[in-house]
Amino acid sequence: MESRHPDATPPNGALHNHLTAEVVVVGSLNMDLVVRTPRHPQPGETLTGHGLATTAGGKGANQAVALARLGASTAMIGCVGDDAHGHALLAGLDQEGIQRQGVRVSPTAETGVAMIQVDDASQNRIVVIPGSNAELAPADVGRWDALLGRAKLLVCQLEVPLETVRYALGRARARGCTTLLNAAPAMTLPQDVLALVDWLVVNESEAAVLSGHPVGHPDEAAQAIQRLRQSGCRQILVTLGAQGVVAADDDGLHHHPAPRVAAVDTTAAGDTFVGGFAAALLRDETVATAIRDGQAAAALAVTRAGAQASIPRRDEFADH
Ligand code: ATP
Repeated sequence: MESRHPDATPPNGALHNHLTAEVVVVGSLNMDLVVRTPRHPQPGETLTGHGLATTAGGKGANQAVALARLGASTAMIGCVGDDAHGHALLAGLDQEGIQRQGVRVSPTAETGVAMIQVDDASQNRIVVIPGSNAELAPADVGRWDALLGRAKLLVCQLEVPLETVRYALGRARARGCTTLLNAAPAMTLPQDVLALVDWLVVNESEAAVLSGHPVGHPDEAAQAIQRLRQSGCRQILVTLGAQGVVAADDDGLHHHPAPRVAAVDTTAAGDTFVGGFAAALLRDETVATAIRDGQAAAALAVTRAGAQASIPRRDEFADH
């Protein structure tokens, strides 16, 4: 991927450091507390569960892990609390080789947590407490303006404040860095934000909310893309689970079927797809190859349990 060259002056307070990465992820970090129960309790009822797993999550961190495992040199900008969860999440980023100097430790907010309750029928109920993710401010991104100026790609999602996402996209554009927005979780977005996005990646429900029309199969995804292209964003990918991906770029609109696999847990399929797709773009692969790589990585992830635990390394599928 060609990087256009920076022509903008860093905002006041920018750090003139020498940190360099191909891709910068601006997004959330959560600790996922996964409780397994025979069934979901009724209001006021106390149940004994099967067990508790404490695992690293958050769409931002999941996508940073996917990018790093799939071969991209990756830096993350985010915010954790000064607590056991926050320090464990930072240690996890270190283990993955992700540069995390841009992850601020808040002295006041607690680390974001997702309480995930899964019953024996695999139905889940999830409560997310954004915590420190809600504190991630434009200034936290502005501090790393030089890093954005040296990166080829910025990847954002919507689990941190929208004003911070808007600021990051705007700074990346000003510094000649390509932008990718995974517009998850689903919400409507102002036109000025969409106009800053080079690559928009959404699943069915996110595409439906953004376009205002239901999306359940490839034809509907294609219609949603036509509507969304009027926002100024030209390159749009709609992921459709086992049905694959419908993508629009300057070569037109194409349906890319997913590999057929026996899925056991689709958690983080979308995050893995984004990581695999973006890592391939960074290697200057064609869009079709990048989609194939993203889908190959995601297909492997859905055959395994867990979120970050299920994300593969490139050598696990690249030769197949
Ligand atoms: P999640 O929220 O579970 O992380 P998502 O809803 O954001 O996922 P999906 O559209 O479900 O994203 O999946 C992303 C990609 O992962 C799909 O386009 C596909 O390539 C792959 N994928 C997901 N589910 C399956 C499956 N059952 N079989 C094969 N590939 C799958």
